Amino acid sequence: MPGLRERPTRAGRPPPRSESTYRAMPAGPSIPSASSGGHAPRRSLVTGGAGFIGSHLVEVLLARGDEVTVIDDLSTGRRSNLPGMGHGVDGLRFIEADLRQALGALGPGERFDEVYHLAAAVGVRLVVDEPIRCIETNVEGTAALLRFALDHGPRAGAGAATLIASSSEVYGKSEKSPFAEEDDVVYGPTTRSRWSYAASKAIDEYLALAYHAKHALPAVVVRFFNTVGPRQVGSYGMVLPNFVASAIEGKPLKVYGDGRQTRCFCDVRDVAEALPRLLAEPRCRGRVFNLGSDRSISIRALAELVLEVLGKDAAIEHLAYEQAYSSGFEDLRKREPDLRRIRDAIGFAPRRNLEQTIRDLAAQMAGERAASPGAPGGGVKRGTHP
Ligand code: UDP
Repeated sequence: MPGLRERPTRAGRPPPRSESTYRAMPAGPSIPSASSGGHAPRRSLVTGGAGFIGSHLVEVLLARGDEVTVIDDLSTGRRSNLPGMGHGVDGLRFIEADLRQALGALGPGERFDEVYHLAAAVGVRLVVDEPIRCIETNVEGTAALLRFALDHGPRAGAGAATLIASSSEVYGKSEKSPFAEEDDVVYGPTTRSRWSYAASKAIDEYLALAYHAKHALPAVVVRFFNTVGPRQVGSYGMVLPNFVASAIEGKPLKVYGDGRQTRCFCDVRDVAEALPRLLAEPRCRGRVFNLGSDRSISIRALAELVLEVLGKDAAIEHLAYEQAYSSGFEDLRKREPDLRRIRDAIGFAPRRNLEQTIRDLAAQMAGERAASPGAPGGGVKRGTHP
């Protein structure tokens, strides 16, 4: 694949020393999937696989024996998130490249049973700062991915089972609670650029559903709700890694607003385990699913819980929204998913509680800091995300 940095890896091999030692996994035409009774491993493609959620999904797929191809431009993901840091792990091939470029460069013989599209410009903050790049990345990236999935399924004429990651942000500022998949969405005016994130994700959803309806692409849309856990970084404004990093450093935990706004936090490992199950269930195709926890907690209570679980006594400070975000920022008072649909479809229920997630995130952050002081994971920037 000329022009792209490709890091295929096989078992027991030491990390490659130079580009020339990298070897591509063989591209084959029709690969029978393990689920269809064949003995060849299932071939899965994960875009954004070096990211927070993507890397946990890659672990789940490798554990069940898939041959996994990851495409990630490392704009927000990290190579160190991948098992074996992307080297020397059986069945994992890592392509560091822009998504559209990488898809265009993969040959016609590259076939996938399953495609998980997690690559996106994440976060309202990024959209506010760089709207054109974000809208183009999200909409054009998903359009290219869906075309690719249609042409690169397990055999000619069959598209790959495709999961499109969306966001609870799609519901916009609707005040209905909990949010159910068939609810109306409510956005502000187009002059408020923050809503372009929700709109770009909504377009992704429309596209996926249209590919299912028009081309029978087995596509599933998943709306993530406040996913948290190990490897999440605070750099994009996400609250839990910011609180945990502050607690570890003995700095004040900064609660925006009155702290009475509520969210439901779901462990990333519960989320990652659910994704292949959604794709495996034929009844899920052509549908949209909320995925998260429905245990609600106020942000003030979350700050107190972090200190209690980690046995720290740092201060909790309140910060006005105008100081935390740009002025005129509209925070949601409440965000809670209706989980009935996903419960009925695959019996989903979160297994890990928030206390466990906080402990595991803190342990991972502390380990990383010890290994390389100044490592990412706690930088507090202003922003928000789905
Ligand atoms: N928040 C906070 N302190 C922080 C980061 C976020 O109080 O350091 C608040 C934020 O205003 C929001 C909630 O925590 O009310 C969740 O924020 P996050 O960005 O994690 O997710 P989202 O707002 O997209 O639900």
